[in-house]
Amino acid sequence: MQYIFLSHDVDWRRQGPPVEHVLKRKDRFDSEIFTNTKLENLYRNIPEYMELEEKFGIRSTFFFRTLYEDGNVDDYEDDILTLQDGGWEIGLHTDPQSVNDIEKIRLEKKKIESITKKPIIGNRVHFLNYNLELPKKLKKLGFLYDSSLRHSKDKIDEKEMGYSKIDELIEFPVTLMDAYLFIHMGINEDGIIPEFKKTLEFGRSVSDQNVISVIWHDNVLKMKGGRVYGKILEFLTSQEDVKILPGIDLVKILK
Ligand SMILES: [Zn+2]
Repeated sequence: MQYIFLSHDVDWRRQGPPVEHVLKRKDRFDSEIFTNTKLENLYRNIPEYMELEEKFGIRSTFFFRTLYEDGNVDDYEDDILTLQDGGWEIGLHTDPQSVNDIEKIRLEKKKIESITKKPIIGNRVHFLNYNLELPKKLKKLGFLYDSSLRHSKDKIDEKEMGYSKIDELIEFPVTLMDAYLFIHMGINEDGIIPEFKKTLEFGRSVSDQNVISVIWHDNVLKMKGGRVYGKILEFLTSQEDVKILPGIDLVKILK
């Protein structure tokens, strides 16, 4: 089986970035979408992701920050509870400034658990600010897996897929991420599905029990490039040897 660990990082506060930030990036959107969408909803896609994934009968993990610039994770309470009730996993999107201090990570975990009312077992650091001391800290705090590791910004090779156990914690390296594909690998919209195909083919050649970890950021679904997400799901779900799932379910299988 080729497992796809599917996830979304929620990088921006619920109200979206400041107006000036969005206006400067106007050309990332199709002009019709830009005109017809309220500014605060251009970066906000949780309901749209839920609808798409529901349509394909799959679930994923949403990693939420607890420290938003000029924002508060409490504003996401309704979204978090709706996701959780619908079978999606909630993970912690740890602040890069917290990674070296176990107490800071503990506070972040507690904060998000005060909303979910159940233990959070998955972690990903914002900006993938990973370091070798992190797995031990995460394990101590009760996390079962992390997915913050990426060796390069522009390569997809054996090191960027599968999983490993580091200090008793399962680590899923990030295989495919929207921003890396568009920015560091220079792949345009038409190249996305072929890149997924190629990666999957490579994964099959590496192992018949492989894991490919995918990040599609919450804020990119209405943007050029990011909007091919539905086509990605269509492609992946058409493959007989592919199973798409949130981190928590994958950890259960790998145990
Ligand atoms: Zn992030």
